[in-house]
Amino acid sequence: MAAGEEGGSVAEAEQEPAVEEPRSFKDLGVTDVLCEACDQLGWKVPTKIQIEAIPVALQGRDVIGLAETGSGKTGAFALPILQALLETPQRLFALVLTPTRELAFQISEQFEALGSSIGVQSTVIVGGIDTMSQSLALAKKPHVIIATPGRLVDHLENTKGFNLRALKFLVMDEADRILNMDFETEVDKILKVIPRDRKTFLFSATMTKKVQKLQRAALKNPVKCAVSSKYQTVEKLQQYYIFIPSKFKDSYLVYILNELAGNSFMIFCSTCNNTQRTALLLRNLGFTAIPLHGQMSQNKRLGSLNKFKAKARSILLATDVASRGLDIPHVDVVINFDIPTHSKDYIHRVGRTARAGRSGKSITFVTQYDVELFQRIEHLIGKKLPAFPMQEEEVMMLTERVAEAQRFARMELREQGEKKRSRNDDDDTEEAIGVRNKVAGGKKKKRKAF
Ligand code: AMP
Repeated sequence: MAAGEEGGSVAEAEQEPAVEEPRSFKDLGVTDVLCEACDQLGWKVPTKIQIEAIPVALQGRDVIGLAETGSGKTGAFALPILQALLETPQRLFALVLTPTRELAFQISEQFEALGSSIGVQSTVIVGGIDTMSQSLALAKKPHVIIATPGRLVDHLENTKGFNLRALKFLVMDEADRILNMDFETEVDKILKVIPRDRKTFLFSATMTKKVQKLQRAALKNPVKCAVSSKYQTVEKLQQYYIFIPSKFKDSYLVYILNELAGNSFMIFCSTCNNTQRTALLLRNLGFTAIPLHGQMSQNKRLGSLNKFKAKARSILLATDVASRGLDIPHVDVVINFDIPTHSKDYIHRVGRTARAGRSGKSITFVTQYDVELFQRIEHLIGKKLPAFPMQEEEVMMLTERVAEAQRFARMELREQGEKKRSRNDDDDTEEAIGVRNKVAGGKKKKRKAF
């Protein structure tokens, strides 16, 4: 991240105890004219993230807001900025960076709506729009610029007379998505040409490693405002997808298991064979994975399940059929490794997490062959899912070790098949896998858990 930026250490201030009573914007310290603007928008009471973030922002602190679109986060950063602008009016006062054009326009609309009575001018600077008209808009020196990083850098480099040397506020909205869309270099460039003496607000749905790095580089002694799941108005189930080439599915799976280590996982595969193969693959890589599928006897399925329930195993791999009618406990993360062919199975699968008031995640793997099925799922649940943030380079670094584990898994699968045929042996429990691994162990290199 930007070399030379200060304030690396995150002195996370203690959060105020959660406030249960809805309070007014006035109680949060919002000035009358802006309270009226909220009222006119029909914002009667502040949302949770606004309750958490506005008072600390008004005190002049940097803020990390962990909140999603729909939580009211735009108001949480726009109101303190507008209030500061009222106190010390200035052109080119605030910059909001956001990952997509659509979000930029949505944010701009909220600035306009909240700031119209005080004469705030804002400009949207995004790709796909003629740069000349944008240059003219920038020449008028608006109070607030809402931009996607790439196009803003274009203007900083090529638009004569335009600079952000007097900027007072920087907002990085949906920081996880900004970084995930490979805007890191652009963000770095922007950080280098804006004053260090500024206020910074960073909003993100998830706190990824990249976001933490950005936070260290760009924020000073920030206060963290997370929308606690208890009060969250958005659903407790965070649903994501990843769009990946089919041939790298295994590597992406391993990457995600590493990224979310410490959680319990349920991974859905479409066939018994793939369930067994993936379990073998993961076990070869040192994960405590256990299969549950229709080619196992009911007793063995229950055995697998009990180990998972007792937390002796953290990953349960299952087919839809095998998981039905069994009392699967709460899991933290559901992975649709193979996309369900029937959209309704999707709901059934992800329902394994975020139960009884707990939070949970689901991640659906979408390959080039699955786009239509995925669109059907989105249609059924009535929303567009966000992409799960990933660092592709890290995934690619896994491919070699994964390829080796794939070879062993295929070999073991073949051996199991042969044994089964010759002895009608259906002993495909993990003990059997373990014994076979041990037997084969002498011939194998020892693989690290990672
Ligand atoms: P955001 O999460 O910022 O994208 O906001 C989501 C939606 O909530 C927008 O349509 C806002 O206008 C609306 N909104 C923001 N704050 C409030 C509030 N305090 N009360 C009611 N609606 C709000």
